[in-house]
Amino acid sequence: MPVDLHHPVRATLDAVLDAARPDTSGEVASYIPELADVEPERLGIALVSTRGDVHDAGDSDVAFTIQSVSKPFVFALALDALGVDEVTKHVGLEPSGEPFNAISLEAASGRPLNPMINAGAIVTTSLIAGDTVEDKFGVIRSGLERFAGRDLLVDEDVFSSEARTGDRNRALAYLTKSAGTLAADVEVATTAYFRQCSLSVTARDLAIMAATLATGGVNPVSGERVISEDAARWTTAVMTSCGMYDESGHWMVHVGLPAKSGVGGGIVAVQPGQFGIGTFSPRLDARGNSVRGVAMLERLSAQYGLHMLAHR
Ligand code: GLU
Repeated sequence: MPVDLHHPVRATLDAVLDAARPDTSGEVASYIPELADVEPERLGIALVSTRGDVHDAGDSDVAFTIQSVSKPFVFALALDALGVDEVTKHVGLEPSGEPFNAISLEAASGRPLNPMINAGAIVTTSLIAGDTVEDKFGVIRSGLERFAGRDLLVDEDVFSSEARTGDRNRALAYLTKSAGTLAADVEVATTAYFRQCSLSVTARDLAIMAATLATGGVNPVSGERVISEDAARWTTAVMTSCGMYDESGHWMVHVGLPAKSGVGGGIVAVQPGQFGIGTFSPRLDARGNSVRGVAMLERLSAQYGLHMLAHR
């Protein structure tokens, strides 16, 4: 859809972008070597309404790897295919308050606390249909493509870098396997997970994906139903409590939108029934959230009263 440069939403996005631009604090992720090569000054934002109107500003078409922003969407695919009762036999729904790569499981059940931390995300990936990496990742890729409404490519350099250095994630997979909650072979689950994290997206893709959750599962640009309304609501609920690493409580008070961030510098935020937002800026704060992405969403939320619990 062509973007109308004079639309007032575009002017708002430009203003939010300009206000965030001077902040050069934070560091790009470097624990996956290839991620450190990203251009740190990139800054983009897009907003897509549930009617399918697309507004964007800055580097909204610049590609970066989706990383942990993939987690809610793969969780949504698992929920859609298996239902919440089956999925929650393997992964919990509770905020962990711990870093994304924490080595911890719920003592009694052996489940990772939630699907937004790595252990829970790897278990979620293991639940996706298919016995091989090709089969599982094929389902994941085509699902995420339906959320975005276009074909998505894997950044093979980031994938190799992540697969080479991903031993902590393999350790998490072994831990969940020994607890009986992983639903696939360790190497299959982790390799599919590394490929999922290495999918290349733009802020505009993320906004369309978020808008697909905001409509209750229908991509508002392509018109295609991607997941059920229940799966969209369950996913958005978990993003509300667990989406921003161990800063989720602070985020809920100060921004008040279901969201998910990734170490590639992307953030998705959902205003159910109204719109989805995608942001991109690679420098991260100590918890792994994009510094300028958080700043832009804080500003938008405060200026336009977007907090989902605001009294209207
Ligand atoms: N692929 C990354 C990892 O598992 C995702 C981390 C993130 O974005 O939080 O280490």
